Amino acid sequence: MKILLISPSKSDHKLKWFNRFFYHAGLSLSVVKNLTPEDIEVEIVDERIENIDINHDADLIGISVHTSVAPRSYTLANEFRKRKKTVVLGGYHPTARTQEALEYSDAVVVGPADTAWPQLLQDFKDNTLKKIYHGNKTPSLKSLIPEKRVGKKTFFPTNRLMTSIGCNYRCSTCAITKFYEKFMHKDLDSVIKEIKLMGKNLITFLDSNIVGNKKFAKELFRRIIPLNKKWIGQTTISTAYDDELLDLMAASGCIGLGIGFESINQNNIHLINKGTNVVSDYEKNINKIHKHGIIIKGNFMFGFDHDTPDVFEKTLEFAINNGIDLLTLNILTPYPGTRYYEQLANQGRLIHNESEHPFAWALYDRNHCVFKPIKANGLTPELLEYGLKWMYAQFYSLPNVKKKILHEPNYTRLLKIASTVFNGLQFIKTIPERKKHSILPSVYYKTLTSDILLNTGVNY
Ligand code: SF4
Repeated sequence: MKILLISPSKSDHKLKWFNRFFYHAGLSLSVVKNLTPEDIEVEIVDERIENIDINHDADLIGISVHTSVAPRSYTLANEFRKRKKTVVLGGYHPTARTQEALEYSDAVVVGPADTAWPQLLQDFKDNTLKKIYHGNKTPSLKSLIPEKRVGKKTFFPTNRLMTSIGCNYRCSTCAITKFYEKFMHKDLDSVIKEIKLMGKNLITFLDSNIVGNKKFAKELFRRIIPLNKKWIGQTTISTAYDDELLDLMAASGCIGLGIGFESINQNNIHLINKGTNVVSDYEKNINKIHKHGIIIKGNFMFGFDHDTPDVFEKTLEFAINNGIDLLTLNILTPYPGTRYYEQLANQGRLIHNESEHPFAWALYDRNHCVFKPIKANGLTPELLEYGLKWMYAQFYSLPNVKKKILHEPNYTRLLKIASTVFNGLQFIKTIPERKKHSILPSVYYKTLTSDILLNTGVNY
């Protein structure tokens, strides 16, 4: 028996060669592979870096679906089913939209694959496949080990590892708690064993928060110190309140942290229930992290109910003044399965109705605005979309980048250059829009904001 596991890409863009250098795959399909009995052949295909063979001779096709690739996943599922293949869909989107996913597949895994996948395979063999398989929301973490076959197709010199799943927090924009009941970490000895087995010296921790359990994290960092590694990971800004934790992070080789600042307006933070973020402490905490030689990739979201059209200028000023090293900018996106989605649906603020799905899910990619912002504040979907591009263009402008990467240690400089190039490619995607408006999207943003200032109004 043969299984093909697919991670689809939103578009068949021409950047597969580029992704081979910089793309970080998640571990979800590796976990599914690790849950598969050894006598079954499994191939993993990640469409961001390679092509999918629609005539593949696999008996069973498994597709991992998140919201923005749902239309692409359903198209693939239809094509495989036309070829008499059995198709199973799993992941965050089918978990939230199970009936929709069932229209395009033979079975759906709801929640983690842990216990559900082995049962599904047995039923498939016995010809008794059911429609829905519910995963255990507190899965065993035994299958959460790196799978080398995904990694070998990319050239980014890093090994990816997860020490934990779930999250202790309950942000209303996040679907993680729909998937995992609680935060759980692996056995420390097995994590250290995995790190020792890794050939490369740069590790990426894919945990949603590498210090989700401080006691565990401190012990982990103590045991990494003698291994002489460098690592990057994600955490919350509240990590900086703990000096011992920061010291241990730096000593264990932490060179970069992704941090969700989300907004520089505390009222917005309250709206999404992100209890870890105290805006008035951002500056102090950023300084503390920088003093430990750790660079910060700041994540910010736009379109909150307390945002106004100058939110991009203000956030850019904050990022530059506080020396944020790299940026990820997103438009607030109400993913199905989150409390935020329910809230906007109840308020009648979702732009697309049921009849426009599943195709409109492609716009749920954080670069498009899929909800109606508070009109009285002057925000519009168009302004948000162009504001994002404008801010990227300003932050990654040549003079700004030059200023940032001078006088850096070598590894930091390399990391910044790599990420800068990667983020720079965001602009390639905007070329059709440039044609539409005859000017650069970031310049178009400026005309939009002046329209609003002049009170000419922009409708949506
Ligand atoms: S802290 Fe991050 S992972 Fe945890 S609930 Fe909030 S957004 Fe999700």
